[in-house]
Amino acid sequence: MLEIKIKKLQLTNTWTIARNSSETKENVFVKISRDGIDGIGEAAPNVRYGENAELTIQKIRQAEKILNNFDWFNFVDIKKALDEEITNQSCAKAAIDIALMDWVGKSFKTPLYRLLGLNPKCTPVTSFSIGIDKPELLKKKIEQAAIYPVLKIKVGRDNEKEIITTVRSLTDKPLRIDANEAWQTKEEALEKILWMQTQNIEFIEQPMPADMLDETAWVRARVNIPVVADESVKRVDDIMKLADAFDGINIKLMKSGGLLEAIKMIDVAHRLGMKIMLGCMIESSVAISAAAHLSPWAQWADLDGNLLISNDPFKGVGVQNGKLILNESPGIGVSGDF
Ligand code: MG
Repeated sequence: MLEIKIKKLQLTNTWTIARNSSETKENVFVKISRDGIDGIGEAAPNVRYGENAELTIQKIRQAEKILNNFDWFNFVDIKKALDEEITNQSCAKAAIDIALMDWVGKSFKTPLYRLLGLNPKCTPVTSFSIGIDKPELLKKKIEQAAIYPVLKIKVGRDNEKEIITTVRSLTDKPLRIDANEAWQTKEEALEKILWMQTQNIEFIEQPMPADMLDETAWVRARVNIPVVADESVKRVDDIMKLADAFDGINIKLMKSGGLLEAIKMIDVAHRLGMKIMLGCMIESSVAISAAAHLSPWAQWADLDGNLLISNDPFKGVGVQNGKLILNESPGIGVSGDF
């Protein structure tokens, strides 16, 4: 059986990045049930990838037909069938994959990280993201983020210097900068990153549009902080062509279509000598907790989507002094009313 619900997530602060601005986010939740056990999943449709709640629900209904034909312990076969059948709205696939792995973990009465052989003590610190804003509001947000040791700062609306100078006047915490594809020429990107290097910046994420790989490689050769891919990478097939342009990749379950693809991506990226960041969209504790189970594999985590909303319907992974804390509950370790 499969149930679907849309839930409106309320952002604590207006969320502005290079592309757009929002106050709320509508995510699609699924509950799959078999043999008296439920698995919960979540899709966070993203306009950047042409996704919306309505199309996501259509794809989840398509996936339901596939689920009905399989033994759910054969989740590798299910992934293959989903990949063949559902070629866009990857967030819909992510919702099914998360719910399925939650169900499998609960069936074995085991947390997912334990099924994967990962040590929960090895989780990284998550950064806390600060959207684009005016200096007065940035000050308020930096105060709200006092308990988080690493900040991720969104830029890309031509006021980078103002934003970073303001943040730097308030805190000396390590900063990660995300430009969300904003800089259109390699010269502009280089000039901005060279200035940022003087500001104790840990890395720069997606400085240029997703397809501008040669230009990004040119920039990367001239800067001395890591350059991390986000919009340039969705699935495992994208990674091979990124090795010249980027030092690491930001894996998000909503882009990859779930945990099983993300695990393959981690392996391929590591073989290419690239670092792993686990990131997220605006998501509740369902999708964030699922990703956190993979986080012992990651150098960097940006799993704060649930920390940016004020009405999280679920409870799962915790955060202590920034470090992700995985619990002992089976599956993805999430509780709450569906
Ligand atoms: Mg990003």
